[in-house]
Amino acid sequence: MRIIILSDIHGNLEAFQAVLEDCSHEQAGQFYFLGDIVGYGADPDQCIEILRGLTPHMVAGNHDWAVAGLTETDYFNPAAQTAVFWTAGTISASNASFLTALPLTISLPGMLLVHATPYQPETWDYIFSLSEASRSFRCFDQQICFTGHSHTPIAFVQDEEGTISVLTDSAFTLHGSCRYLINVGSVGQPRDGDPRAAYGIYNPENASFILKRVPYDIKRTQEKIRAAGLPPFLASRLAAGR
Ligand code: ZN
Repeated sequence: MRIIILSDIHGNLEAFQAVLEDCSHEQAGQFYFLGDIVGYGADPDQCIEILRGLTPHMVAGNHDWAVAGLTETDYFNPAAQTAVFWTAGTISASNASFLTALPLTISLPGMLLVHATPYQPETWDYIFSLSEASRSFRCFDQQICFTGHSHTPIAFVQDEEGTISVLTDSAFTLHGSCRYLINVGSVGQPRDGDPRAAYGIYNPENASFILKRVPYDIKRTQEKIRAAGLPPFLASRLAAGR
């Protein structure tokens, strides 16, 4: 049984559907979602509805909470802020209350799910450096913490001596004596220079993880963003993966 880990879909229906098609070839047992189902993209309702049918294991992202009115948007860039207001005015009442009810973290046997950081999920900090990873490792007990938020896939490993390093391979085996902090990247708005949708597959049976990349119809997504009257930058950045 494989666990499919998705994050930062951001209302990008084409990327979401391409990922679901790609992982339909896996023996997918469960789906985990790490937040930001909405914001930026033109299909928030459709994405929420697909996700609601897929899994109960989902945490809130900052855009989900912003659309639900649960967090400030002062620190959002203008395009992101515009998208939050557009999304809040577009989604159904049922989907709005669904976003309001999303938890900040989900604790499962052996793993923690969180959008931003395990130490202060509600302040939406980013984990890029070894020191930020170190602070994070001190704040969860499980072997693995899966995160999103930065839209940049990265995996940190902490060995039994407490030394933390970055894993550079997109596929690796998890060792029982080590702990892991794994960012699975973004389905709907990658920012690591690779415009393909990103998602993770974890196989508990052989303790393997793989980060997958999937091409999708970026042009169609861009047309929908422009047609919705959302900021054109949100369309153009998809082609660059930035
Ligand atoms: Zn995001």
